[in-house]
Amino acid sequence: MKSQKSLKVSQEIHSVMDEVLRQAFLPPPRQTAWEWAEENVVLSPKTGTFSPGKYRTRHTPHVRGILEAFQSPDVREIVLSFAAQTAKTLTETVCVAWAIANDPGNMLFVMPSEGMAKSFSKSRLQTVITDSPTVSGHIYGTKSFNLLEMEFDNCVIALTGSGSASNLASRPIRYLFLDEMDKYPKSLGDEGNPVTLAKERTKTFPNAKIMQSSTPTTDMGEITLAFNETDQRRWFCPCPKCGHEYIASWERVWFPEEGSDEERAKKVEVRCPECGFGVTNKERRQFLSRGHWKPTSTARDSSKIGFRISEFESCIGRPWSDLVMMFLAANRKSKNGYIEDLKTFVCSVLAEPWVNRSDTMREADFFLSFCCDYSQGTVPSYMDVVGLTAGIDTQDNGFYYVIRAWGGGEALESWLVDYGFCETFEELHRVLTAKYPAEDGSRMWDVSGCFMDAMGHRTPEVYNFCRGIGRAARVIPTKGEQTLNGGTPFSFSAVDRERSGKVLPGSLQLCRINTTHFKDWLDGKLHIGQDDLGAWHLPETVDHEYCLQMSSEYRDDNGKWVPRTAQARNHYWDCEVLALARASSLKLDRYRQPPPGGGEGERGYNDERRRRLI
Ligand SMILES: [Zn+2]
Repeated sequence: MKSQKSLKVSQEIHSVMDEVLRQAFLPPPRQTAWEWAEENVVLSPKTGTFSPGKYRTRHTPHVRGILEAFQSPDVREIVLSFAAQTAKTLTETVCVAWAIANDPGNMLFVMPSEGMAKSFSKSRLQTVITDSPTVSGHIYGTKSFNLLEMEFDNCVIALTGSGSASNLASRPIRYLFLDEMDKYPKSLGDEGNPVTLAKERTKTFPNAKIMQSSTPTTDMGEITLAFNETDQRRWFCPCPKCGHEYIASWERVWFPEEGSDEERAKKVEVRCPECGFGVTNKERRQFLSRGHWKPTSTARDSSKIGFRISEFESCIGRPWSDLVMMFLAANRKSKNGYIEDLKTFVCSVLAEPWVNRSDTMREADFFLSFCCDYSQGTVPSYMDVVGLTAGIDTQDNGFYYVIRAWGGGEALESWLVDYGFCETFEELHRVLTAKYPAEDGSRMWDVSGCFMDAMGHRTPEVYNFCRGIGRAARVIPTKGEQTLNGGTPFSFSAVDRERSGKVLPGSLQLCRINTTHFKDWLDGKLHIGQDDLGAWHLPETVDHEYCLQMSSEYRDDNGKWVPRTAQARNHYWDCEVLALARASSLKLDRYRQPPPGGGEGERGYNDERRRRLI
């Protein structure tokens, strides 16, 4: 019989033996995807990278965690909600390269449009693949190596635009990349949502990998909805003074209240919430490079991993001072009702979704709060008006119009001078060429310009009016569109052409107007208090019908302006949008005082308000 002691020794020997055997049969320690990439991926200057040559993650330590997640067999979906300048697309490209060389499977890369897919393929993807020998060795002849389809000896990569249902729904794929997915169409008609359609194709693969990425847009955008389903990892950095780990988020960004934009931006700091120690612009790279990813939520499905990083938090972002300058300018504009630049800052720099204001739904009575003590038909004379514009909504039986006075400068404060309905073109002509007196009788005002809706049943008549007597009031025909190419506020095109398409000299110009842009802007003005800069005013006698029509539209959850009811009359709302657009097209916001020859000396110029503006 063995003693207790010898039993114990033999157990120990066994466990040591087990460990030796286990070690002997373990696979060699696996190289991480980013270590592999640093050894094998080569970036030519053509890729637009800021450091060509061998791929390095030293300057972008945040991509290491993403590449590791991509390699992990436990992760199925990766969501990147990233600011614009954070190496997002390059990271995806490196993932593709890694997969070809290490864990091949058929891939589909989706971009918003086919054009974008082609340009990405040419400038980024193919350059990285052909310049990296470990990857290019797998290319299966040049014949099957096109911009939108690349054949390798072990897999096929296809690229497509998000608008093509047939491309999204063909053969099964193991790797799916959905890039800039907030720019995809919400629906492809009967085929449904493009994201759902593409994901469907990975179903047959238990080891499929779906990489979703975008700069966020709204809280209902695809990337934000997807990110909310994950463990929501954020980039935490240790405070150089107390060691407390925190995110260099917008709440932590500090700059002084006083001074010029440059002075304020130069003093920017990111401050520790624990000890208050501020990291300066100069120290930001070192501070941010010490960070690491940490989940901030628990995912219901642990195979879904999400990463979010803003430009403030990324080592390769622009200097913090530049970003603060950008914010100060955008914020000032937003105070005057123009929110586009602030939206860009929030989405593209902070990587946060823009939350649609839900208070665009208004009752008619709300508009009474804009009434001031001046009479309809006159131009208030206590402020620095620089010009008048008109907006006209064309109906089968006549024309609704508004005439508005504008204060100069970015603020573009404004007063409704007159509004109403004309049955004939002659009547309309009289209204547009009338002289509008300043309230104190000091001068008379002309209408400087006018936009007139030319769509509907009366296009040729409107064109003739604009070519003829309408010229006196600088009336330009318009066509409203919900969006315009490139997001521009408006674009002009010639109406009068020869058969060959050649523009006739002196042709009438049609102005296409991005109505969403100007409705958002007008909505912004309706949020400004009566005593604040850039306010929007109505005369004391404005009637219920005007107010009712002004409350006829609201912005729905998708950010679209829609009528409140099918019968709602929105004519004055449309007129006001056109009058604002005309003021913008005339660049009235650039005038700092009455235009030359337009006034009788300095009038009601208010220095105090002007100072606040600048
Ligand atoms: Zn601290």
